[in-house]
Amino acid sequence: MSPTNADVLIVGGGMVGLCLAHQLLARKICKNITILDKELEIGLHSSGRNSGVLHAGLYYMPGTTKAKVCVAGAQRLRTWVTEQCLPLNPCGKVIVPTRQELDGQLDVLAERGAANGARVEFLDEHQLHELIPEARSASGRALWSPNTAVVRPITVVKRLAEVLREQGVSILSKQSGWTVDPEQRKLQTADGANIAYGHLFNCAGLQADRVAHLFGIGRQYTLLPFKGLYWQLKQDCPIQPRCNLYPVPDLNVPFLGVHFTPSADSSQVISIGPTANPAWGRENYYGLDGFEAGMTLQSLTILARQYLTNTGGFRRYVHDQAFLSLPPLLLQAAQQLIPTLQAKHLERSQKVGIRSQLFNRKTQQLEDDFLCLQGPGSTHVLNAISPAFTASFALADLILDQAAPSLNLP
Ligand SMILES: Cc1cc2nc3c(=O)[nH]c(=O)nc-3n(C[C@H](O)[C@H](O)[C@H](O)COP(=O)(O)OP(=O)(O)OC[C@H]3O[C@@H](n4cnc5c(N)ncnc54)[C@H](O)[C@@H]3O)c2cc1C
Repeated sequence: MSPTNADVLIVGGGMVGLCLAHQLLARKICKNITILDKELEIGLHSSGRNSGVLHAGLYYMPGTTKAKVCVAGAQRLRTWVTEQCLPLNPCGKVIVPTRQELDGQLDVLAERGAANGARVEFLDEHQLHELIPEARSASGRALWSPNTAVVRPITVVKRLAEVLREQGVSILSKQSGWTVDPEQRKLQTADGANIAYGHLFNCAGLQADRVAHLFGIGRQYTLLPFKGLYWQLKQDCPIQPRCNLYPVPDLNVPFLGVHFTPSADSSQVISIGPTANPAWGRENYYGLDGFEAGMTLQSLTILARQYLTNTGGFRRYVHDQAFLSLPPLLLQAAQQLIPTLQAKHLERSQKVGIRSQLFNRKTQQLEDDFLCLQGPGSTHVLNAISPAFTASFALADLILDQAAPSLNLP
């Protein structure tokens, strides 16, 4: 087969890979772009399966990459979604402490939000109940983020892929089992086609560490998958929060806790979740599908060690979040936010996602920030965890700026 050429080859057609292609075109860096995805359809992993919350930038420590790109990214994605006439619910978000001793965390979040350029306001109990009459705050205070919005993630990624195709980006689907020669900058697909590239971006999400290892990059990193299951309020449930309702999170772990999220579209479904329990494989969405015995063993060993050493207060994650896939515990967590909620109000949602949390074997810690490593003729986006979806346009610009010195483009 005759070789094809790509100025830029992107592995992974999730939100990060698609936004990189978008920004390569928008900034006129190059035109000849190919995206390679192992699945038949766009959006089968995190980008099509997340909560769809456009985060306003309250959680992230000022100075981190997440903090740098979240606020600008959210504004840009919101504008793009509106221009494309896709569903967007500008409903805002309330954060409440579920225990009195967590009240001080509201001040920490307000300070971080202000430093990151996000709008935040404190609410008293009366104002909280005006927004969500059934909501409970253990201290009587709450934090209001008016700029948080909700979109329908699968619709967003599918439309973005469509727009890119119209602009001449080649999106090759069902491309697993490829091999690469990093020195020669050549990738060979499983059916024998050769693609010579100027620069390769690895945006493979849940598989990004494995792809990076093919380039000899990031060997100290491995990915731990955490499954996010969702429940939803039944249509006849008398409680229907009209904005996002989140608990004050444990800022030591990368999960925000079970929360209530209204839908972006007219379906008016309120999701509850996601949980964050260890998954038995990186793509183990249902039952034993995608079960990986070796990976599960490795992952559980790492988590057990984290628990024993209590690194970064990991025990609290295990006690508070690791078992929320059990319905009674999920209900309990939800009742901390809305005490009058009952089991009869909830039903399981079909929605399920898996978070790709990066673990650093050298430091024995979970990585908390996005990580972008340069390799031979390549850039590897590792740990594109939340809010990478929200931040994707701004994150793409940052990745391109960092890769600029090694971009070998015509
Ligand atoms: C349950 C859950 C809830 C979340 N909620 C939010 C939220 O509310 N707001 C927010 O901002 N973020 C949220 N996130 C995080 C967000 O979804 C991710 O940060 C973002 O989608 C990451 O995008 P990505 O492009 O890196 O990965 P993905 O969307 O996973 O895309 C990676 C792509 O690479 C492809 N691929 C993998 N390996 C290969 C290979 N070897 N060859 C070719 N292709 C390959 C895959 O098929 C996939 O299409 C959530 C995540 C989860 C799981």
